[in-house]
Amino acid sequence: MKKLMCVVIQKRHIPYIMVIVVMSLIIPTAAVAFMNETLQSRDRRALIGKTIVVDAGHGGVDGGATHGDLLEKHINLNIALRLREELLHHGATVTMTRDEDESLDDHKNNGNRHREDLKKRVQIIQSNEADLFISIHANYIVGKPSRLGPIVFHHDTSERSKELAAVIQQSLNTLHKYKEHNIVIKGTEASGRYYLLRNTSCPGVIVETGFLSNWLDRKLLQDEAHQQDIAVRIAEAVVLYYQSVE
Ligand SMILES: [Zn+2]
Repeated sequence: MKKLMCVVIQKRHIPYIMVIVVMSLIIPTAAVAFMNETLQSRDRRALIGKTIVVDAGHGGVDGGATHGDLLEKHINLNIALRLREELLHHGATVTMTRDEDESLDDHKNNGNRHREDLKKRVQIIQSNEADLFISIHANYIVGKPSRLGPIVFHHDTSERSKELAAVIQQSLNTLHKYKEHNIVIKGTEASGRYYLLRNTSCPGVIVETGFLSNWLDRKLLQDEAHQQDIAVRIAEAVVLYYQSVE
């Protein structure tokens, strides 16, 4: 009898229940979609008209820093490709110095391979008349295995690069995964006399995304969620940078 009542009640209420279920699905989804659309359309305008070169450090014969089988060049490319997507999302025009595992030298093996590679990267930045460039690398330090976290380098004579580096550094200091491990990152942007920074005319930074010499950074830099977080935070910092300088 109890069972039968139950069936009767359910049947009687089915149309109402259906309406309630459908409405409860549609209304919040529509509201969220509307809010997202509004945020995204505003977001998508932030970098319209900006040409940004994203440089994935090393590549091909040049693996960069290594730890066992782990090669810096792969991490750099993974993060750089994600960064491209994030910058495109904000409306920027993005040029990559490389989007696959290749070096940019002349392949002549004449002893100048490394310099030729860097020259080509500079040439791409200059010929695209980039508004700014971001070069993605990973760090390695011998004898200091506990050192971890991102460091953003800028050229010491470029105020704009310094400002850009500061905004990106602050943004990267709050990466989720460090918080999850209860680690407070207090990285400070630094000046560096790197070839790429010395030979380009637009503001630019070299982002050392973490230390391959540290066990945690090694783990995190291979973690897709962390790579994505880095890309998102750099792109958000670029938006903030333009909001502050223009
Ligand atoms: Zn590197």
